[in-house]
Amino acid sequence: MSEGIIIIRKGREKPIIQQHPWIFSGAIEAVRGGPTPGDIVTVTDHKGAFLARGYWNPKSQIQVRILTWQDEPITGGWWRKMLKRAIKGRDRYIYLHTRDTAVRLVNAENDFLPGLVVDRYGDWLVLQALTLGIERHKTMLAELLMELLAPAGIYERSDVDVRGKEGLSPVSGVLAGQPPASLLAIIENDFTLQVDIVGGHKTGYYLDQRANRALLKEVCLEKAASDTQLQQLCVLNLFSYTGGFGLYALGGGAEWVVNVDASREALELAEANFELNRFSPDRAEFIQADVFDYLHDQAAQGALYDVIVCDPPKFAHNAGQVERAARGYKDLNLNCFKLVKPGGYLMTFSCSGAVSADLFQKIVFGALADSGRQAQIVRHLAQAEDHPVALTFPEGAYLKGLLLRVY
Ligand code: SAH
Repeated sequence: MSEGIIIIRKGREKPIIQQHPWIFSGAIEAVRGGPTPGDIVTVTDHKGAFLARGYWNPKSQIQVRILTWQDEPITGGWWRKMLKRAIKGRDRYIYLHTRDTAVRLVNAENDFLPGLVVDRYGDWLVLQALTLGIERHKTMLAELLMELLAPAGIYERSDVDVRGKEGLSPVSGVLAGQPPASLLAIIENDFTLQVDIVGGHKTGYYLDQRANRALLKEVCLEKAASDTQLQQLCVLNLFSYTGGFGLYALGGGAEWVVNVDASREALELAEANFELNRFSPDRAEFIQADVFDYLHDQAAQGALYDVIVCDPPKFAHNAGQVERAARGYKDLNLNCFKLVKPGGYLMTFSCSGAVSADLFQKIVFGALADSGRQAQIVRHLAQAEDHPVALTFPEGAYLKGLLLRVY
């Protein structure tokens, strides 16, 4: 097999040796062998010694994504072995949550399969091909997944902006097997949720917040049980999407949940999800609004909640947007602090990879200082464990949050 060779500049091999999966154009001295974009290439140091093997895309700033640091061929058997390893890595999660039917099976770089995301929703799989290298292999990957997991079908949701950076346009549709029903019911921690894998956000649902939703239920249970002054446990679920956190709040004994989101479709599905779990409609409100405006209004009216969840979309898509994102997070959290009852809780998140956990904590601290309130960190929060982070790839830890007790 004649393979393209990527030669790394002298002194730039350290991150590769340390198994960071990305090689930027600046680290590359030369490209030999005339590879075609998307091809598997061999990466060597400036003297020609083997460093790694991956796939190449000259259109992307990340020119090579590494698949292996061993001198082994990237064959169908290699992809099969790596998919099996990723799937096997979910055994711990499945063992602990035997009734759950939705799980992330492949978490891209963090499962050493850069650019590939695979989520399971009941009998269907959803695949995202985020890079040209995966785009080129996706049919074969879908065949392997059919063989390994025998799902009813595999639906592709590669309709994401990041593909533009790889010179790819968005695509979605059936990759293998049967087309999915318009809504699929999944079970998550004994709640039933309808997921729209064709038209919903990401692959249909925010699986990454699952453990934090379970924590919210616990917070509500404890609060309802131990707060003797409490008359009605009220929860504000900001950026509610299809109501996940709200369901868990009711499941934890909250009397009243206000779900706020800009998306009418998401709120309609949220309402359907509340009914599906047999929660009386008079325990919840579904408000279509811009959360920033809504919070300003609520603060002006002096509204108060026992527990607030604030789970906004990604504000910073790159390092250049961090400052503006920080202002957004500060404004949100300042208004959240104003609306928490003394002794209540704020669960606040950022899913911007470009905003580190440390920076996020500083932003929330800035908001607290302006609010004149006091708060304690009860827990540092992160993405669910079926979204593991490769230790060599800190970029994988994109979701960060704080559970705060506010006085
Ligand atoms: N907490 C949810 C996921 C939230 S995703 C869960 O656990 O499933 C972010 C949500 O924010 C999306 O549903 C999106 O429609 C909504 N959104 C984005 N910008 C908004 C804004 N300015 N005001 C209100 N909702 C917004």
